[in-house]
Amino acid sequence: MIESGVLDRLKRAAGPGGFLDGPADTAAYCTPFRDGETGATPLVLRPDTTEKVAALVTICAETRTPIVPQGGNTGLTGAGLPRIAGNEVVLSLTRLNRIRAVDPLNDTITVEAGVTMEAVQQAAEEVDRLFPLSIGSRGTCQIGGNLSTNAGGIHVVRYGTARAMVLGLEVVTGQGEVWDGLRGLRKDNAGYDLKQLFIGAEGTLGIITGAVLKLFSRPRERQTALVEVASAEAGIGLLAYMKSAMGEAVSAFELIHRNCFSLATETLGHPDPMEGVRTWRVLMDLAGQEAPGSLREPLEEALANAFEAGLVTDAIIAASGAQADAIWAIREEQAEVQRRAGFGIKHDISVPVSAIPEFIAQADAALTKTYPGHVTCTFGHAGDGNLHYNPIEPRDWGRQRWEAETEAVNRIVHDIVADMGGSITAEHGVGRLRKGELAHYKSPVELGMMRSLKRAFDPAGIFNPGKVFDV
Ligand SMILES: Cc1cc2nc3c(=O)[nH]c(=O)nc-3n(C[C@H](O)[C@H](O)[C@H](O)COP(=O)(O)OP(=O)(O)OC[C@H]3O[C@@H](n4cnc5c(N)ncnc54)[C@H](O)[C@@H]3O)c2cc1C
Repeated sequence: MIESGVLDRLKRAAGPGGFLDGPADTAAYCTPFRDGETGATPLVLRPDTTEKVAALVTICAETRTPIVPQGGNTGLTGAGLPRIAGNEVVLSLTRLNRIRAVDPLNDTITVEAGVTMEAVQQAAEEVDRLFPLSIGSRGTCQIGGNLSTNAGGIHVVRYGTARAMVLGLEVVTGQGEVWDGLRGLRKDNAGYDLKQLFIGAEGTLGIITGAVLKLFSRPRERQTALVEVASAEAGIGLLAYMKSAMGEAVSAFELIHRNCFSLATETLGHPDPMEGVRTWRVLMDLAGQEAPGSLREPLEEALANAFEAGLVTDAIIAASGAQADAIWAIREEQAEVQRRAGFGIKHDISVPVSAIPEFIAQADAALTKTYPGHVTCTFGHAGDGNLHYNPIEPRDWGRQRWEAETEAVNRIVHDIVADMGGSITAEHGVGRLRKGELAHYKSPVELGMMRSLKRAFDPAGIFNPGKVFDV
């Protein structure tokens, strides 16, 4: 337990309105967005300035009080939640939510960690720029959380992950110091690129309080197509073809199993936009600076060629922005669809893009052999080699029996991933969910380097203990 004297010091430093300590008020900060264990904490800190974050971390370092940094709490691995023992404080960045500067000439925006992804997108739009990082939870997740998980999302195929969109960071260190690395430079070879260490660190190395983010030209033209492909191989063939035919215009490319559409109809009532019998579909966006409507003809031509080549068997090009959004909603609501459809053993894997069809074939065959009747519900950012491979409980099994197979299913799926030189977590991170898997698959050399970094950056061991790996 945390001593009451320490809690009192933290409350005084946080100031009025800067903390929550009643169980009813702290519950939401301890509850996972989706599956997973509900945690406990005696205190949620809600500082509204970087200086206050630093003061709070200083007290925690002195008293060896563990801190769980938390953004929008939309993470899917338990990384931003306190553990059940109740001896960790939560440090929520929600009130650190100012946009500090927008510089359209430098194509940058400087924001505090608690600004939501959607608010950054809107601020960029106001100066006729694009902030391309975009995920289903954009209205709630925060930039601090996005950077700490190195979020991916639907536009990685064109713009890269969160890591590629950061020019500078402000961080409160394990000693409670403020590192002002808020530089808006595109070239900076003056020593180690320290900001990259905090990106994807899941709150284990420091607390991100601010960031300088890159902005991009705002596309004037967007076309969305839902395409039925002959097979997963044809889907990857189509990606290569579209990139050579349309180049940079390909800004999203998702491979989606047909089950994802039928489950969206069953659970959320989304009408299936397409009839069809094939197993795999591709949802793609094309975007560019050209006049509105100008990409439609080249897209039609490219799809017709792909049809001739036997890659495509059917296609719909959205007739309006509203139709495009309705199709994308089916993709973006898959987390909720699958929650309602039954317990899924979730995987967030990546392999080289070219190996995706082989991964699907091997994993499907291995699981069908051991678990005939499981429901395949695979979708993901195929343009980045990333799939959410989520086998759902066999129809007559029930949650408990399927959940008990989690370790065995993980081993089957992740062994195939490892054999292909892939990653057991492409974009959601490790947190608590995949900590055991990380220990299983990372080499001792890599884990050793991670431990050395952790000791150097967080000597008191206060930042998010028990997450990612054991020190
Ligand atoms: C519907 C839905 C769709 C999603 N789609 C995607 C997707 O397409 N791609 C994707 O990558 N993810 C996706 N996610 C996962 C999730 O939204 C992302 O991981 C997101 O980046 C987490 O941001 P957050 O603010 O909610 O962070 P939280 O969940 O609060 O925290 C995540 C991690 O970051 C740490 N952290 C948070 N803020 C800070 C900070 N300021 N300093 C240091 N550490 C911090 C926490 O300790 C924790 O380890 C999705 C989630 C949902 C619910």
